Amino acid sequence: MIALTTLVKINSERLRHDLDELAQIGETVEGGISRLALSNEDLEARAWFASRVEDAGLMVRDDEVGNLSGIFSSESPDAKTLLVGSHLDSVPSGGRYDGSVGVLAGLECLRTIKEAGISLPFHLEIVDFTDQEGNWQSFFGSMGLTGTLRDIQVNDLRQDTAAFRAALFRAGIHPNEVYQARRDPETLAGYLELHIEQGDRLDSAGMDTGIVTRIVGRTTYRVTFYGESTHAATTRREKRRDALQAAAQFITRMYDLLDDYPEGIFNCGDVHVKPGAFNVIPSEAALRVECRHPDEKILSEMEERLVGLAAACAQRYNLHATASVVMHRPGAVMAEPLIETIEQVCDELGCTHQRMISVAGHDAQVMGAFTPSALIFIPSRDGIAHNPREFTEWQHIEKGTTLLLQTILRLAHHA
Ligand SMILES: [Zn+2]
Repeated sequence: MIALTTLVKINSERLRHDLDELAQIGETVEGGISRLALSNEDLEARAWFASRVEDAGLMVRDDEVGNLSGIFSSESPDAKTLLVGSHLDSVPSGGRYDGSVGVLAGLECLRTIKEAGISLPFHLEIVDFTDQEGNWQSFFGSMGLTGTLRDIQVNDLRQDTAAFRAALFRAGIHPNEVYQARRDPETLAGYLELHIEQGDRLDSAGMDTGIVTRIVGRTTYRVTFYGESTHAATTRREKRRDALQAAAQFITRMYDLLDDYPEGIFNCGDVHVKPGAFNVIPSEAALRVECRHPDEKILSEMEERLVGLAAACAQRYNLHATASVVMHRPGAVMAEPLIETIEQVCDELGCTHQRMISVAGHDAQVMGAFTPSALIFIPSRDGIAHNPREFTEWQHIEKGTTLLLQTILRLAHHA
């Protein structure tokens, strides 16, 4: 029996205290955080989270891919599990809200429901997914849970995965066992995620809540130009086979392509040059490039042009180039019934809301194809994210957590 849900309130002070305390783990001088997946800081944050769960008298669980959960168990014998998740890891020099807000809001909901003596028709599980940000492998945890990890991602003998494997072992994760983390979708009641928007649409519209309808697809490419390393001074200009020169032209012309794709995104933020000496012509330039577009068909057209451009730039400098897909994450559609439930709860709580598309990737993108999923956004000031200046007003965190809580209770009521 569900109590009058309006009488159940989150403990705002406790949540705030948790956020402040968590933000000290991996804190940077700029006031942000660096908590790269499987780093010392990440492991410390996970230990901290586990102790918060235990302090609340809840159950801690970790699976074979390192996902860490706090669970409030249902008494009903055939109960499924409602997952509520996000991530405690961060990008290098990231902000204190990205991911952390979702995990801690979930924890606060768990504690509030337990303290109110409510019994749920489903197990409620708050999960911190391993390596959402891709320090080693983006969405490693959610892909493990959904059974979509491919062997190539941990045991690829063509790549040097030794450091990744060592990091996994150190965190108590056995690379050969990660596939066992797969859950049966029949045992799940759905997935909810609360996250900061990381864009400025809500902030500039003065809106409380974004309810995501779909998350855009994206593909990451490795593009490598191969030339010849010879003496920088004695090699005649027409004989130079400079891999970096081709790469530089490739990057510039890649951004020019976006004139044809107003909704498309390219990004290159990772360049490795060999041999890496100032007085030697670069023989190799390896780039990682990301492509995103809300429309899958247009996305593949953008990718085709990208690959063609790499070949053209290589030819121009008498080089050889390869372009291979490192990762393709298809777009995901969020569950309409969950969207409608969240909209109703927003109306009852007096939260303004709008539907929106997410251009940033989230674990909800991986979960969406596995179990009915929803993604709720709260505003990010000026849309700044993956940056120490990332900021979300406290009232939005409070409202978002209340919305999450009341959504869980509503789902419990209708289960
Ligand atoms: Zn995030």
